[in-house]
Amino acid sequence: MKICIETYGCQMNFSDTELVAGLLTEKGFEIVDSPAEAEGVLLNTCAVRENAEQRVKNRVIQIGYLKRRRPELRIGILGCLAQSLKDDLLRDSDTIDFLVGPDSYRALPELLAPGGVPARRVETTLSKSETYTDIPALRKSGVNGWITIMRGCDNFCTFCVVPYTRGRERSRPADDIVREAEELAAAGFRQVTLLGQNVNSYRSGEDDFASLMRAVCRVDGIERVRFTSPHPKDFPGALLDVLAGEKEACPQVHLPLQAGSDAVLERMGRGYTVREFLDLAGKIRSAVGGVAISSDLIAGFPGETEEDFLATLDAMEEARFVSAFTFAYSERKNTIASRRFPDDVPGDVKVRRVSRMVEVQRRISNEIHACRVGETVEVLVEAPSRKSRLEAFGRTAEGTGVVFPAGRVDPGDFVRVRVTGSTTNTLIGEEEDRSGMRI
Ligand code: SF4
Repeated sequence: MKICIETYGCQMNFSDTELVAGLLTEKGFEIVDSPAEAEGVLLNTCAVRENAEQRVKNRVIQIGYLKRRRPELRIGILGCLAQSLKDDLLRDSDTIDFLVGPDSYRALPELLAPGGVPARRVETTLSKSETYTDIPALRKSGVNGWITIMRGCDNFCTFCVVPYTRGRERSRPADDIVREAEELAAAGFRQVTLLGQNVNSYRSGEDDFASLMRAVCRVDGIERVRFTSPHPKDFPGALLDVLAGEKEACPQVHLPLQAGSDAVLERMGRGYTVREFLDLAGKIRSAVGGVAISSDLIAGFPGETEEDFLATLDAMEEARFVSAFTFAYSERKNTIASRRFPDDVPGDVKVRRVSRMVEVQRRISNEIHACRVGETVEVLVEAPSRKSRLEAFGRTAEGTGVVFPAGRVDPGDFVRVRVTGSTTNTLIGEEEDRSGMRI
């Protein structure tokens, strides 16, 4: 049976899609790229923001047209939206055959099997132990392999739906993660990125996140190791030693600030003040030379005054993130904020505040990248550039994208590139002589 999986949302969802593809392939299903050639379509969904939810609902309507022509086509909704909306989704759409939450993927082979499926089924039991560690992910070949090291989150930030859709925190055994990194190295991957909602909480026997990072850095053939995301409230000191001491550990930290006002942070339940966050960013910078710190920021959280918002802009100026994902607050069903705080910042105010944050971040990113003109950077080549096949795209150790004339490079090559120009998110350069390179 041919199955097409479409993925929405965060990197965790993309990693889950690789897991689901692995699970189905083991059971004899074939993964295809297009719904037109598929006998089953799975939408792996995100519930974190309203626009992600709307995109999935629109897609369900589009796929409904296919189903009208081919009534035997099976359609399933996976992931966070299935978990959070459950019966509401089924009630609103007669296109959907089943819903499967993030802890119930093992039910999929039975749900997809032709003939034997009770229609309109909902599989959304959350587990305290499921980590799918025995299922080999099915990855497209590439340069970077994503490895999920833990699932769920216990932090219950008041705006966030993740603890309700992905359940309680649980970690995969460190040995399994290291073995997966070894398999990726053997398959030609040069980089791995360790994924968790809050990697600081990783625990497995004697191992914590710092010791896991160190072990993965020491896997032969893996040249770069990244991770996302740590929580600022409990960033492990030992992780700084790993970032400073292991040459494979990339000097890149995604550190979500969310807001620059203590009053808003308090209502968000984030567990740190702005000063504590900025001090942590300073400590990371002193310990890890050249580290790039990026962030997430929300505008228009309930009760955010103009003064609170201006404090966020001030914090951005002081933190000088290399990049930041900026969002207008959207109330999510079941969250603590939806129960406690009225969504009282008008839509047009949220839009104005996000635009202002984007403007400030663009300027800071431009300034940071412009300072790198004249440097020579080591780039891991990922793919041809999106704009021209005559150019290659890769990343520096800090995670900054670099575009340069392709010459004779292939994905997975390390090249030294002299930076000759920059844009908001990208460095532009020319390849240097390859002699004297690390690889
Ligand atoms: S740390 Fe907070 S924002 Fe991140 S997933 Fe957990 S609850 Fe959500």
